[in-house]
Amino acid sequence: MRIVIAGGGLAGLAAAVALTERGLPCEVLESRPRLGGRASSFLDPVSGMSIDNCQHVSLGCCTNFRHFCETTGLAEFFRREATLHFIGPEGRVDQFSASSLPAPFHLVGAFARLSYLTWHDKFWLARGLKALARGVTAEERRLPFSEWLARHGQTPVAISRFWQVVLVSALSESLDRIDVEHARKVFVDTFLAHRDGWFVEIPTVPLDDLYGGRLTEWLISRGTTIRLQTAVERIEIEEGRVSAARMSSGETVGGDEFILALPFFRVRSVLPESLAAHRDLTGIERLEAAPISSVHLWFDRPITELPHAVLVDRLCQWMFNRTALGTAFVPTSFNTNPQRERSHSKDTDIRTHIAGWCPETTATSNGFYYQIVISASRELAGQSREAILAQVLAELTSIWPETARATLLHSRQVTEHRAVFSPLPGVDALRPTQQSPIANLQFAGDWTQTGWPATMEGAVRSGYLAAANVLARLGRPESVVRPDLPVGIWSRLLMGVSGRS
Ligand SMILES: Cc1cc2nc3c(=O)[nH]c(=O)nc-3n(C[C@H](O)[C@H](O)[C@H](O)COP(=O)(O)OP(=O)(O)OC[C@H]3O[C@@H](n4cnc5c(N)ncnc54)[C@H](O)[C@@H]3O)c2cc1C
Repeated sequence: MRIVIAGGGLAGLAAAVALTERGLPCEVLESRPRLGGRASSFLDPVSGMSIDNCQHVSLGCCTNFRHFCETTGLAEFFRREATLHFIGPEGRVDQFSASSLPAPFHLVGAFARLSYLTWHDKFWLARGLKALARGVTAEERRLPFSEWLARHGQTPVAISRFWQVVLVSALSESLDRIDVEHARKVFVDTFLAHRDGWFVEIPTVPLDDLYGGRLTEWLISRGTTIRLQTAVERIEIEEGRVSAARMSSGETVGGDEFILALPFFRVRSVLPESLAAHRDLTGIERLEAAPISSVHLWFDRPITELPHAVLVDRLCQWMFNRTALGTAFVPTSFNTNPQRERSHSKDTDIRTHIAGWCPETTATSNGFYYQIVISASRELAGQSREAILAQVLAELTSIWPETARATLLHSRQVTEHRAVFSPLPGVDALRPTQQSPIANLQFAGDWTQTGWPATMEGAVRSGYLAAANVLARLGRPESVVRPDLPVGIWSRLLMGVSGRS
């Protein structure tokens, strides 16, 4: 039995893990020189560090991603944050943590303490959350979320300081480009359904260490083959089944079962025209993408001791204090190859733009490393690196005056132009299922039908669903996807949360 997986992002890797674990090793073909896809790192030559293309965090409600990490031994490299630090527009820090009450009461105190919302805002916020939890009507489903908020009496302050803060970070889109069901899912799964849904889990090592290093070893030691820098150019179909994947080199890799785990903007180009034109797949063409930017900063001293912070109503949305969070400073053996670094920078597949700006060439391995995340970063397009850096530093200085006294040793900006698919109203109708119209071809990827937005959880779910389809075809039906966190009894009785959308 030969199972070929094209694409070594989290979706392809999750499919490989699920099948390998069940005694079905696979062959993973990845076009880039490393695994991890959009969740990966690159070597920053100035700092000598392996830095992530962007901070990736998971949440307590991401049950499949957690299962994937536990299965492969990666879970110990995540740190669970039980307190979030929200910094209001006036610079005050509000600690956000759960009480010992059951869901949905566990966060009532935390919301009540948010100093940058008035009681009037909080009253409408509570009503909005309750209405969202109860479900949305067919008519509301067609609306952008901004319109739903207006219809539900949300105040401008609650919108800009709460709804927008949560959703732009979670879905990387502006409120007028978000599907109501997608918004509902974020709030129900994170805050309302279960006590643990909102915990933020942050990797303590570079992403490349997780997926390029440790996971690669896990897979290889169990018989799965990984071929890097192997780009699939075409899927070949003979007599109604996929017979082989043809590489750009002309080589073909034959197999019995195929999983295509490519980004949505790449997938149709490798399919024969007749299949790409299939009515189930034409929606992929209409998926749109949203950008995420990160600004990496190394100072000669700490600017704050906080491990992370949510910056409310600002350009900068999250600050991650990578020094405090414990990211390894020394690059691992998996990412010290300068050839790999060059090919990453040139990569046009994910259309990453990495821009360095280095006022001093001082080696910065002893610097204090902070990362700023700006989701839905369209407004940065066209601005110079210097202008973006100046805005970021001004915001940090207004919150942490020590920033002005610190020397900036080095900085780096990364924009992933096609970071995630945009959760536009009606987007789910465009997303195909994992089972393609050809029986022995599955799709995997955060953009397939998973019930989740573009996240690591969505990617892992898609890989598990694709693996389950393969298992069923081999006469070994099994549910691979892990269940959601159960809905708490009070959430069901009082908020009307009946399950996930
Ligand atoms: C900047 C940024 C920040 C993010 N932050 C978070 C976060 O905090 N939390 C979260 O949960 N999610 C986050 N995400 C989303 C998350 O990274 C993705 O949803 C997830 O990694 C997608 O995995 P995937 O396998 O579906 O796709 P990809 O990661 O895109 O994997 C597809 C793979 O296919 C390969 N490929 C492409 N063409 C070919 C070909 N012809 N042949 C062979 N291989 C090919 C690609 O190189 C890639 O490795 C973020 C994404 C970005 C970009």
